[in-house]
Amino acid sequence: MTFYARFLSKKATPQSHRADPKQEQNHAGGFSFVLDDWQRLDRFLILGSEGGTYYVSERTLSLDNARCIERCLAADGARVVRRIVEISDSGRAPKNDPAIFALALAAASDSLDVRKAALAALTLVCRTGTHLFQFAESVQHFRGWGRALRSGIARWYNDKAEDALAYQVVKYQQRNGWSHRDLMRLSHPDPKHAALYRWVVGAQAEARQVKRRDRMVQYAAVPHLPKLVAGYEELKRADTLQEVVRLIREHGFTHEMIPSAFKDSIEVWAALIMRMPLTALVRNLAKLTSVGLIAPNSWATALVEERLASRDALRKARVHPLALLLALVTYKRGRGVRGGLEWTPERRIVDALDAAFYLAFDALEPTGKRVLLALDVSGSMDCGTIAGAPGVTPRIASAAMAMVSARTEREWHAVGFSSGAAGEWSPKGHGRNGWGSNSSLVPLSISPRQRLDDVVGAIRRIPMGGTDCALPMLYAAARGLAVDAFCVFTDNETWAGSIHPHQALEQYRRQTGIAAKLVVVGMTATKFSIANPDDAGMLDVVGFDTAAPAVMADFIRA
Ligand code: CA
Repeated sequence: MTFYARFLSKKATPQSHRADPKQEQNHAGGFSFVLDDWQRLDRFLILGSEGGTYYVSERTLSLDNARCIERCLAADGARVVRRIVEISDSGRAPKNDPAIFALALAAASDSLDVRKAALAALTLVCRTGTHLFQFAESVQHFRGWGRALRSGIARWYNDKAEDALAYQVVKYQQRNGWSHRDLMRLSHPDPKHAALYRWVVGAQAEARQVKRRDRMVQYAAVPHLPKLVAGYEELKRADTLQEVVRLIREHGFTHEMIPSAFKDSIEVWAALIMRMPLTALVRNLAKLTSVGLIAPNSWATALVEERLASRDALRKARVHPLALLLALVTYKRGRGVRGGLEWTPERRIVDALDAAFYLAFDALEPTGKRVLLALDVSGSMDCGTIAGAPGVTPRIASAAMAMVSARTEREWHAVGFSSGAAGEWSPKGHGRNGWGSNSSLVPLSISPRQRLDDVVGAIRRIPMGGTDCALPMLYAAARGLAVDAFCVFTDNETWAGSIHPHQALEQYRRQTGIAAKLVVVGMTATKFSIANPDDAGMLDVVGFDTAAPAVMADFIRA
């Protein structure tokens, strides 16, 4: 190509210039394609905006996403509510917070039907008392406490069976500045669960008369308190270890309900672990180890191992792979982030967490295709977090996600691009180029036999540089590698190359005769993508969606 043709060619446009009318300038100054609002909604529901990105503050990213949700609500509010329910209920997202936030926005929609649909979905999306408090905290910024909202909250209480409701009000008494007492006073749930309501608001259970302005109101005596609540009252008064253990065995209390004086006892945790919900188990491995319950070859170690090995149990409890990754990295360290707790990590637990990570994704079949897993390891990928998970940057998360394919596929090759160190592969005219970037690419020596924490460590050690998302395709073309699918894990803020990624893919297809596909795994909740929406051979998925690896495989196989 001549010097001048380079600037006009539709086949090779520098990333600092628009190559297609559909492109917009991204946060890094390059040009990228833009997702539609529905795709952005998915990215937000799964990744959230907590922590922001390298380029965009948490506040700006949250506002951008809120505006996007509002546009979706105006276009088709019922669809938004359905999508919130789908993603929240299936446990595809690492955190439920974005779904709750979006539901609160929907509950304040201009359309009565959408508001109704949002409130009708409250029980499905807000499954715990904590979720309900989060919803209450969000929704009050968007609308007033009208009658419809108050009865929506009342329904959350009324529709629950007594046992289930008792569990919720005892386990999560208050969070985020809200308590059940506040919400019950606002919503006046019907007297079906009268005994429980009286207990929550701290009123007497006996019959009594109360003076209300100019009249006297009669309250009949309420029936017995639910068994769990009565047991909890007994637990609060318990002063011996034996009594506490007996009550835990009888009532199945959770650790939140145990008085703090008894929380360092191995006997207490031995009783708790028997009926501990799986999410709590994953969060309390350090504590279970520090009290001595999880120990080399102990019965509790075997129990935890067994519980973490059940795909059904993991899915049913909505244990997200990100929670397992986080638990693994934290547990292996042997000390808490804020200091205090120390423990000796038990090897079998670390291995069990590693195996559970893969089980927590949708089941995956190998595609039988040749796959290039390409990880953007540029500087921007090391900022921000996935769904607010401490230490889990887009870069770390990409490595863990890539391992899911690496463990399933037979023919794959993994590379990190834009590492910038000397002696690595770099295309002619791209390396140390005029944009100040040291674009290059390095094969990653990750192995499916490696544990995730080793992979994470290896990825952390790669030096960082600028961003050129075309490199994987240019590399495969230059090396003559046969690739059926390029899977690029990136924040899509590409800017440094002299050809756009979609053009590099087209060039690769022409050169090799392989109808290669491109899957873009978006690791941040921005609107940008390197995938050309008009090309059926390119697909966008959301990073750390538990459904993503299976969706990618279906697309690659087709
Ligand atoms: Ca970057």
